[in-house]
Amino acid sequence: MSTSVADNLARVKERVAKACASAGRPESSVTLVAVSKLKSAALIREAYAAGQRDFGENYAQELRDKATELQDLDGLRWHAIGALQTNKVKYVARVAHAFHALERWEVAAELSKRREGAPPLPCYVELNLGQEDTKHGLSPEALGDFLTRVRELPNLQPVGLMALPPPTDDVARMREGFARLRELAHARALASLSMGTTHDFEQAILEGATVVRVGTAIFGERT
Ligand SMILES: *Cc1c(COP(=O)(O)O)cnc(C)c1O
Repeated sequence: MSTSVADNLARVKERVAKACASAGRPESSVTLVAVSKLKSAALIREAYAAGQRDFGENYAQELRDKATELQDLDGLRWHAIGALQTNKVKYVARVAHAFHALERWEVAAELSKRREGAPPLPCYVELNLGQEDTKHGLSPEALGDFLTRVRELPNLQPVGLMALPPPTDDVARMREGFARLRELAHARALASLSMGTTHDFEQAILEGATVVRVGTAIFGERT
């Protein structure tokens, strides 16, 4: 499949629109984040030229470097979507439009400190629904106490939950995981849901995703 980023983007947007229509939701209720990790700045420029504004990066230094290289692109919004180490918070705290992988108190405290003087950083708490050892995220049981502490930080604004459910081709299981995340968010008065990737973003939208994070379907396979 060797199509252009603009073509891929158009196709993904069409699929987002269809899923929104099936869910009876306006298209404006879903933000498409184009996950550009390990992809070149040139490809990001192509997506930007095609109208894309929200981009997701996993690695702190890569985000910092791309933000510098692409600072001429007005209105581009960077979403930090990967786990952060405390000593790398400084690379993303000011440049990020949102942080999607909040799971550690030390990182939350450092982010708030480094965000001082800027508008509060919207954050999604990452949950590990599959309870897999290899994945990041808090257990649902730990969410309440964590949120209570994070809500006291002056420069962070917890807005939602994020999850990267275990890959499955079973649509019913996909939907179950996403529905669970939605219920947990609503129980905590969190309005936003960052869920769904190339593999399952349509199912995520059907279950209430407000942000989908799509990489491969837009930029191609990562090597
Ligand atoms: C890489 C990544 C994505 C995008 O995955 P694709 O399968 O390429 O769409 C989304 N979310 C997170 C947290 C990721 O690390």
